[in-house]
Amino acid sequence: MTDLKFVPTTCPYCGTGCSFNLVVKDGKVVGTAPSQRSPVNEGKLCPKGMYAFEFINSPDRLTHPMIRKNGELVQVSWDEATTYIAENLKKYKPSERCALSSARASNEDNYVMMKFARGVLKTNHIDHCARLCHSSTVAGLAGSFGSGAMTNSIPDIAEAKCVFIIGSNTFEQHPLIGRREVMAKKNGAKYIYADPRRTHTSSPADLFLQFHSGTDVALLNGLMQIIIKNGWEDKEFIEKRTKGYEDLKKIVMKEEYSVENVAKITGLEPKDIETAADWIANNGPTALIYSMGITQHTVGVDNVHACANLQMLTGNLGKRGAGVNPLRGQNNVQGACDMGALPVNFSGYQKVTDPANHKKFEDAWKFPDGIAPAENGYEVTIMMNVLTDNPGELKAMYIMGENPLLSDPDINHVKEAFENLEFVVVQDIFYNETCEYADVILPAVCFAERDGTQTNTERRVQRWHKAVDGPGESKYDWEILSMVAAKMGYADQFAWKSFSEVFDEIAEVTPQYHGMSYARLESADGLHWPCKTPEDPGTPVLHTQKFLTADGLGVFFPADWQPPAEVPDDEYPFQFTTGRCLFHWHTGTMTRRSETLDKEVPTGWIEINSEDAAALGIHDGEMVRAITRRDSLKVAARVTPTIKKGTTFMPFHFIECPANLLTHNALDPVCKIPEYKACAMKIEKI
Ligand code: SF4
Repeated sequence: MTDLKFVPTTCPYCGTGCSFNLVVKDGKVVGTAPSQRSPVNEGKLCPKGMYAFEFINSPDRLTHPMIRKNGELVQVSWDEATTYIAENLKKYKPSERCALSSARASNEDNYVMMKFARGVLKTNHIDHCARLCHSSTVAGLAGSFGSGAMTNSIPDIAEAKCVFIIGSNTFEQHPLIGRREVMAKKNGAKYIYADPRRTHTSSPADLFLQFHSGTDVALLNGLMQIIIKNGWEDKEFIEKRTKGYEDLKKIVMKEEYSVENVAKITGLEPKDIETAADWIANNGPTALIYSMGITQHTVGVDNVHACANLQMLTGNLGKRGAGVNPLRGQNNVQGACDMGALPVNFSGYQKVTDPANHKKFEDAWKFPDGIAPAENGYEVTIMMNVLTDNPGELKAMYIMGENPLLSDPDINHVKEAFENLEFVVVQDIFYNETCEYADVILPAVCFAERDGTQTNTERRVQRWHKAVDGPGESKYDWEILSMVAAKMGYADQFAWKSFSEVFDEIAEVTPQYHGMSYARLESADGLHWPCKTPEDPGTPVLHTQKFLTADGLGVFFPADWQPPAEVPDDEYPFQFTTGRCLFHWHTGTMTRRSETLDKEVPTGWIEINSEDAAALGIHDGEMVRAITRRDSLKVAARVTPTIKKGTTFMPFHFIECPANLLTHNALDPVCKIPEYKACAMKIEKI
């Protein structure tokens, strides 16, 4: 009998960061097996994790470098591909070059991409999909607390005495965090769920607030007014740990946020809002948990600030079972941000515009001709706008592990942007929609075929272990970038021999990771940053004594409610929102190549409230035309009483009915996140 090998690693899908073993037989991954070693998931997995091995052996995997010659993709050697890329990239000025990094690649890959962009391309035009999911979290929480990350740990959630989940379908998107929410409930916690859709996550709710998408600030301000009026605020915490409380009161105590007015704006019952305020303030510790229902709005940063305000007002920070807990999307979106794959930061959120940081990285990296100037680059959403509005300003894009042609808002706009690029490199594991625009395609290995680290949503840095070799001539992402860098004359700056050597450089220049090493991560099964010395045990709960702001105080940032950029009207009477489902992940490049997962949910749909459908004469399963001001598409109707009347919903995984053909490219002015969660739509029966 052939021996089986069990290789511990972490799941390639969501930011929960569950651990499991890959089962290897005859050099091939044939399954996953539970691993008890991680406190994150304690041996349990959701369906995506369970079947995470299936796409690894897909015949669709990219196996050789390809160059487009006379319109046809032609297989070439690595030497020819990297020479060709270097020659083409050299033709452009630094300001004409941009890069997209990847939230599903390792910390090492993201760090090397960050160094490649700033040191080789000499540009700060680097970003990744955090822009689309949690850039409002990073900007909002950094302002409020001095750190843009989840304040508490995943196991902590089970210790809450009240869980307030807003804009997160945790049971489908982060199922093993949903388990902690249920554990809290079993331990006696009050469970409040606020969302426009009744989902699996609402099943255990003691109180379900089915409110209108895009009214979060009104709801949160209303809750705060009730708390202050009743004297339920934590006066000692406010006085000793925060500043700006009087400014907060000026906004939230306005008549506009009286419970009656908030009920009208949100579509809720006044008594339910009052009950929620009572439980949040008086049943603590309260863990506030949110995801993209909060972040993906033109007021995403205001929404995040409002969450932070509520938790400071009630003293629900700096202790177990409490906190502001944004659930990050991709497995390593936290790490990609930590590694500085952002237009404004080096790794560790060190601002590129600060001359001291600029000098620090110039000195550490030793590029003979310097690095990108100390000025902010473009966010990915701004890159797309620049490409369409000012053709010729950006000309070359290097994309590692992203698929903007399906993930970004208003796909027609993205196509127009890509048509204005002169040179595109795509480095990925599959041929995806974005490859249609690629001049060069490079095959990378997947999570099972490399070592490395990732940082999950609770700031826990975790090890990956290589189980098998990648297919064909595929290579590690950082290895490929290093080959291109060498062809551009920078071999010395990219001379690592292993993943751990890259990590050692990360730890050297990134304060939050200073105390980490592969040896420590191996034995401890992960460390929460900040971890500043080799003796530091890491920090599962942030802000216990003081916040990470310059003066150690949390800052109230009050905001008035503003409606979404596009609201329903007579012509487009529905409010359209988007999201994900349990069995698929983002643009489906991996889950749709997993036979089991794809069989469960083989295509997309649009949810329509039963009363709305009856008024239009639409029956469950019928094809309808969904129309917004951007475009229209045919899709099957899922008629259900679970979605709020007047609201429609589509998952965005499916190329045959791509929800992002319809979404709106309106951006939050601060963090430039698009408003995926609210735009106007009409539905026509076909
Ligand atoms: Fe993977 Fe997330 Fe499921 Fe855990 S909860 S198995 S990390 S998809």
